[in-house]
Amino acid sequence: MSEVRTRFAPSPTGFMHVGNLRTALYAWLLARSEGGKFILRIEDTDQARYVENAVEVIYATLKSAGLDHDEGPDKDGGYGPYIQSERKNLYREYAEKLVASGHAYYCFCDKCDEESGEEIHEASSLCPCAAMDAGTAAAEVASGRAHVIRQRIDRTQTSSFSDAVFGDIQIENKVLDDQILIKQDNMPTYNFANVIDDHLMHITHVVRGSEYLSSTPKYNLLYQAFGWEVPTYVHLPLIMGRDAEGNVSKLSKRHGSVSFENLVKEGYLPEAIVNYIALLGWSPKSDREIFTLDELAAAFKISGLNKSPAVFDYDKLRWMNSEYIKALSPERFADLARPFAGSAGTLPDEKWELIAKLLHGRTEIFSEIPEKIAFLSELPEYQVELFTHKKSKSDPENTRTDLPVLREVLSGISEWNAENISAALSEFAAAREVKAGRPMWQVRIAVSGCAVTPGGPGEIMEILGKEESLRRIDLALVKLNG
Ligand code: GLU
Repeated sequence: MSEVRTRFAPSPTGFMHVGNLRTALYAWLLARSEGGKFILRIEDTDQARYVENAVEVIYATLKSAGLDHDEGPDKDGGYGPYIQSERKNLYREYAEKLVASGHAYYCFCDKCDEESGEEIHEASSLCPCAAMDAGTAAAEVASGRAHVIRQRIDRTQTSSFSDAVFGDIQIENKVLDDQILIKQDNMPTYNFANVIDDHLMHITHVVRGSEYLSSTPKYNLLYQAFGWEVPTYVHLPLIMGRDAEGNVSKLSKRHGSVSFENLVKEGYLPEAIVNYIALLGWSPKSDREIFTLDELAAAFKISGLNKSPAVFDYDKLRWMNSEYIKALSPERFADLARPFAGSAGTLPDEKWELIAKLLHGRTEIFSEIPEKIAFLSELPEYQVELFTHKKSKSDPENTRTDLPVLREVLSGISEWNAENISAALSEFAAAREVKAGRPMWQVRIAVSGCAVTPGGPGEIMEILGKEESLRRIDLALVKLNG
């Protein structure tokens, strides 16, 4: 069998939808699992939709996701150029061949430049130009008359093909339209360019979204007209989202972030996103869920792809992200979490490392970090009732009497660290024969103003420093005595 060659052919839209990234991932996995090649091709024939920096976003996303390409605009493999607009001049010749063989025709209708031929040509979309005498049409083109080139579809036939995911598909050609192949500006449409490029680039497996399934018979007719081998099609199911009411519809912004960049900005790790989307439409046929890219490549099989739509589950992604975060080394966690930490991230390294240590086991996504540690930079408003805690037998009354003593004990600590602070609190409890939980609670509330904090009073006070900790205890006493 010839070498497996897959491609990812994004249009430069400026962002990477998770559905597109999944397409790239499966095409990459297929190539890697078969020892083949993964090719990046930029499909920018729709110049009206040109977005600046969009190609950079594609490179950056693939890099961050770990999907390396063997050939692409920046890596010539002998089949370039890999940017469609730079291939502009080669498509016309192929379209002319189809005109000559009767599989395409020139069309001079006013609005034919728009890809919505159906609108002007009604149901069958059979253009009147289809019946024009070939010589007359050629003369019109030679005279410079504006035109497009349309595919000529024999509507009496039935098309059938087999998709690796969706199985055997049959379609009556009468429902197919004479799609435009070459536009008035001489640019090919996606519908034409994808066939020419996949053939010229020796693509063996076309992996793409199922929205292209219904156009595939038209592409096959083009392959046949040229006498070319049709690639193996691997169409992927839609990705859906579930709203608060439980209704399922195509994944969109109202369900949450839908682009890779935004998910990363929200604090999901690229590795976790990639792992999660790998399972959105593909199953390893086991319960295993955590995979590195290499492990995915080793396990990947086309037969594991599902045709039923997959529902993007943000809770599941969050869980998976927390697993990836737990698996990070403390140093790596500290580095990755820092840009998300607001002012805490700008503290000196030793301080930030202490904070990061507290956050590591308690962070599911990085974006939740600022709220978890807001109390460190500013003591929040709180009510004295917060000193009430049944289990540790703490309440505002005993706190009012205990806290001045605790303040004394704490101010006597010469080496201010979590260990010494905790030891001092435990000693205090032992001397009074109360649970250690009581002073712990009392002091923690006083210094944090929060019922839930990452870390206990020792760790928090070490980070706050002695002066600030004692200042907050004084404020608590004012509140308790007020
Ligand atoms: N340029 C198309 C898109 O971004 C790619 C379709 C394909 O993979 O053939 O949707």
